[in-house]
Amino acid sequence: MSLSEETPGRFKIPRPASGLRRAAKRSLARLAGLAARRAGDPALRILTYHRVNASHPGDRLSVPPETFARQMEALARSGRLVVGLERAVAALRGELELPRGAVVITFDDGFRDNHDHALPVLRSFGFPASFFVPSALVESGRTLERYERCCAEDELMTWNEVRAVAAAGHDIGGHGRTHKELALLDAATLHDETHGCHREIAERLSLAPRFFCYPRGSESPSVRRAVAQAGFEAALTVAPGANSRGVDLFGLSRTEVAADDTLADFSRKLEGGFDGWHRLLRASHSLAGARASDGFPRHQHGRSVVR
Ligand SMILES: [Zn+2]
Repeated sequence: MSLSEETPGRFKIPRPASGLRRAAKRSLARLAGLAARRAGDPALRILTYHRVNASHPGDRLSVPPETFARQMEALARSGRLVVGLERAVAALRGELELPRGAVVITFDDGFRDNHDHALPVLRSFGFPASFFVPSALVESGRTLERYERCCAEDELMTWNEVRAVAAAGHDIGGHGRTHKELALLDAATLHDETHGCHREIAERLSLAPRFFCYPRGSESPSVRRAVAQAGFEAALTVAPGANSRGVDLFGLSRTEVAADDTLADFSRKLEGGFDGWHRLLRASHSLAGARASDGFPRHQHGRSVVR
């Protein structure tokens, strides 16, 4: 079980989570969910999705369209207010009030399946979302390393498709130019990946992007400064948890939704039930010096080898 594909580090082929591990994770989530309900869970939660498709069974970052639709239905039934990042950030700045348990929906990486499969579902529920695109990879015919040499479905959106997403009322944010781990870069390359990303999106959409998402969660104080200097107003990490007023806007926490989440898991994630588990994983990775996620599927000869 990985924290996220976006966790920086070397690649390694993941091993399936054991039944015991899954049971422990869900038991902890149940207890934490009960505690969160008692506490009222007032903080803003930002959900992380990557891909929405049925082409990659076994890829934990590819949520099947039917599953995504059921999750959005559960979110609608939960009565939580779904807001765009613009309102969320304004609320975190103290400029407006949001009801308890408000939720933001985000998609990383700009895959075409976001346009094809996520957009119609979002439209049917009237939910706004943010889509973070690696600007130099859009319409490039290239895909992310994770899916190289796999499938035709693994292309990113074209700029026309990105514009269609924006025209549907969604927010388009930056995700670097080429999805590099920003904390590892020299100053000139970091400048190119942040300022260049801001400029390219602004030129293509005739609208400056306001928000950024660190590729693979790789960031540092100097990365945060570069992102701010590039013109972004806030940035999203892979750190787990919800966000309260006064939070560092360049260190926003998120909650990743995985393909193997049951509907009960999804509901517990909305309540913060998995935050403790995810923090435990991050701490254990840090202690072990293991910066790599075990959730990286690799495609070899066109076949996913994840889980
Ligand atoms: Zn990414």
